[in-house]
Amino acid sequence: STVILWFRRDLRLDDNPALQAALIDCDRLVPVYVHDPDSEAPWAPGAASRWWLHGSLASMDQALQTFGTGLLIARGDALAELRRIVAATGATRIHWNRLYDPTTRDRDGRIKQALRADGLRAESHNASLLFEPWEIATGTGEPYRVFTAFWRRCGARLSDVGPLPAPTTLPPPPESPDSLPLENLALLPRIPWDTGLRETWTPGETAALEQARAFVQGRIQGYASARDLPALAGTSALSSHLHFGEIGPRRVLAMVREQWDDPTADPVETFVREIGWREFAHHLIYHYPHTTDEPLDRRFAALPWREEDADRLLRAWQRGETGIPLVDAGMRQLWHTGWMHNRVRMVVASFLTKNLRLPWQAGARWFWDTLVDADLAANSLGWQWSAGCGADAAPYFRIFNPVLQGERFDKSGAYVRRWCPELARLPDKYIHQPWTAPSALLEHAGIRLGRDYPAPIVDLKASREAALAAYEVVKAAG
Ligand code: FAD
Repeated sequence: STVILWFRRDLRLDDNPALQAALIDCDRLVPVYVHDPDSEAPWAPGAASRWWLHGSLASMDQALQTFGTGLLIARGDALAELRRIVAATGATRIHWNRLYDPTTRDRDGRIKQALRADGLRAESHNASLLFEPWEIATGTGEPYRVFTAFWRRCGARLSDVGPLPAPTTLPPPPESPDSLPLENLALLPRIPWDTGLRETWTPGETAALEQARAFVQGRIQGYASARDLPALAGTSALSSHLHFGEIGPRRVLAMVREQWDDPTADPVETFVREIGWREFAHHLIYHYPHTTDEPLDRRFAALPWREEDADRLLRAWQRGETGIPLVDAGMRQLWHTGWMHNRVRMVVASFLTKNLRLPWQAGARWFWDTLVDADLAANSLGWQWSAGCGADAAPYFRIFNPVLQGERFDKSGAYVRRWCPELARLPDKYIHQPWTAPSALLEHAGIRLGRDYPAPIVDLKASREAALAAYEVVKAAG
């Protein structure tokens, strides 16, 4: 029979359940990608994600070509395009891997129904997660809202999950409609702001597997301590590869197990736990779909955000011109590379929502457009956690002090010096708070505050107190 494999954010051949199911009794295989951003609105991929997607699709096409086939690229309404391809190829079955965010989930449900009504066999599979969000539940059958309990429940079943192999051959394609050239999807920026992205990342399955292997065989050993130091490349940098499904969490786990006999060994457990956070994020977005835009903890809907001067402050934050070095370094790393270290993501998010008292949704939107790993589940969880209104959130009264965070996690200032070179000549003692440096010293370092580098746009202490006062409203609502 002729079978369609509908690729989405599962751009790999390894450990791909939809592909493996498609291959059963298949004479002709049609690998398809349909670009349909309208159906993902309001969360159609942002600019940095589109850049990555372009590279990932090119890599997928190349991999398929080595098997004598290729990726059929289409654009438009996904259902209409799939129907057109069914009609042209005579396909009788279609397989794809599931997505869990609210818009694509609804869309895919409708597509499945419509194709089945057409008489096709339409089946979806799980490539993206260790466990389906509905498989993990509390004793009373409820979804989890606390990570530790969620992960404990997963832990008992972790040894049951493993990856599927990559295929060794693929059936040839049937006579198919012509593929659109990838360039026609216009995923790459028209103004070339993507130099830093190109220097930093290689999208695609081959790069994903290499990156995972190198991490598991090397850097994972120091992960437990290095993961908090933004100046080091101490983490796996797998987030975009995982988001686009160029590698799956089951393969990552299997690689870890191959390398490390003892699954409770410190670096291994700490790293696998982060994969657990990714699972938890998907669990939450599946069970609480409103959390993409609204707080999970509804009491926080009453929080009074700042109104006056909001646009100017938001812009300063986005551009890395707040005058707070660790925040600015993070925002510039994001702009330049499409990625930001997790510790710094927490700091800039706390600064935006607490010191500037701007809504977490505005920060989440900026991240959505600028992160190459922008992921609705992880981003919504990360922002709500930081704002104090999500699952398992940091208590609202815990407000990161970006100076102390810098002194603790970027002691020598290497990270700040890298991304804010205008501060490079400041001694370590002042690198995280240049406004406290004696003026002679600033002059010696070639810095005029307010000209070469901004003076702080808020007073950290006063803004902290204002935030605590604003949060009293929430406490009263509780
Ligand atoms: P590692 O430390 O090597 O972790 C391995 C993998 O575990 C990651 O690739 C990622 O898939 C997963 N992971 C790690 N931490 C988390 C977490 N807190 N939540 C969910 N999954 C996690 N991550 C995204 O993938 N996309 C986002 O859009 C995103 N937005 C965030 C926004 C905020 C405000 C915060 C605080 C965090 C956000 N994160 C997001 C989580 C985290 O910062 C990144 O996953 C991590 O920095 C990616 O780097 P890495 O691959 O080297 O991570």
